[in-house]
Amino acid sequence: MEIFKPLDLQSDNQKNTITGNSEKVRCLIIGSGPAGYTAAIYAARANLNPVMYTGLQMGGQLTTTTEVDNFPGYPEGVTGPEMMEDLKKQAERFGTEVRFGIATAVDFSGKTHKVTIDDNKLIEADTVIISTGATAKYLGLEAESKYAGMGVSACATCDGFFYKGKDVAVVGGGDTAAEEATYLAGLCRKVYLIVRRDVLRASKAMQDRVANTKNIEILWEHQTIDLFGENGVEGATLVKKKGTPAEEIVKIKIDGFFLAIGHTPNSEIFKKYLETDAVGYIKTIPGTSKTNVAGVFAAGDVQDPHYRQAVTAAGSGCMAAIDAERYLSELK
Ligand code: FAD
Ligand code: NAP
Repeated sequence: MEIFKPLDLQSDNQKNTITGNSEKVRCLIIGSGPAGYTAAIYAARANLNPVMYTGLQMGGQLTTTTEVDNFPGYPEGVTGPEMMEDLKKQAERFGTEVRFGIATAVDFSGKTHKVTIDDNKLIEADTVIISTGATAKYLGLEAESKYAGMGVSACATCDGFFYKGKDVAVVGGGDTAAEEATYLAGLCRKVYLIVRRDVLRASKAMQDRVANTKNIEILWEHQTIDLFGENGVEGATLVKKKGTPAEEIVKIKIDGFFLAIGHTPNSEIFKKYLETDAVGYIKTIPGTSKTNVAGVFAAGDVQDPHYRQAVTAAGSGCMAAIDAERYLSELK
């Protein structure tokens, strides 16, 4: 079945053009994670001549991890940086122009979408695919950077497997923390859920799941102040009932420390024009990548509060390119 009807490149108005410090492009992709590169592969194969700006983190979040074992097509697993290099090569093979640069401002008020790069270059795009990802929040402890990739993680689905049969802790009291704790409880011997208040913010259903999971122990009113260990995390130092007469220092022995205190979608510069939810995730029309602005599409973690996986990001990148191609063919 033919999904794409490649656009006819012979006509001049379908070419990217440069005038002074501004450039007119058919399809601009912002962000170079799995969503951006997959969108680029599809958009390039549909003759949209995509131009991608990578942002500061070329390759996205996966460049900060070692093994990726759950992306289809790599039976032996692959390192995050290798996988992202493969995706980049595949996008370039079909003609994507990958450029280093950061989108610093946008104007989506007209039919042509204006995006400023590095505060000085103007791109005027018929279609824009936003794939700027989301950033996990950390507590801000020095130990979190010290043990990055050595026991500290912000993704239980990604890294939980490495802690099979071990003891771990999850920080947070929301749905993500409850979900990550129950997921880890299925793999690990024991899961501590470190909650800073005496209540969970998580939904009643998620709270029930936590309460009914025998190997989860909730540490109410505990805050993490440090992590320790020789060649990786071996434990955490917590303070219980901070600032009260009952304040006490508690040490727990753990092999893994999982952050689940929320994510920040990288959507700040788009908020003036695009609808977002209360957290900042860009809203898309369900089942599509379409935002509230015609010709602007969002893919990957920046519009996904639920799954935030490489494969779901890649899938939505494909959707965005198909939506962009259809939008352009309807414009003709
Ligand atoms: P990202 O990968 O976050 O990429 C966002 C891109 O946008 C980056 O290139 C960034 O530079 C760019 N950007 C941001 N702002 C701008 C801007 N203003 N202008 C231009 N560019 C911009 N998922 C799995 O499926 N399996 C795993 O094993 C796995 N392991 C993980 C391990 C770690 C340590 C982390 C942090 C995440 C892991 N994930 C894993 C989750 C996975 O990395 C994300 O779901 C996925 O990368 C999201 O892809 P994305 O394309 O939406 O965005
Ligand atoms: P969230 O609802 O904002 O919860 C963040 C949690 O982390 C809160 O319990 C908060 O504590 C805690 N926290 C924040 N900063 C902290 C710090 N510095 N130290 C210790 N704890 C800290 O975030 P989320 O759980 O990621 O959920 C985000 C959204 O996605 C929510 O709307 C949620 O319902 C939704 N979601 C839904 C599902 C599902 O339905 N299955 C799954 C995951 C997420 P306080 O409570 O004290 O503020």
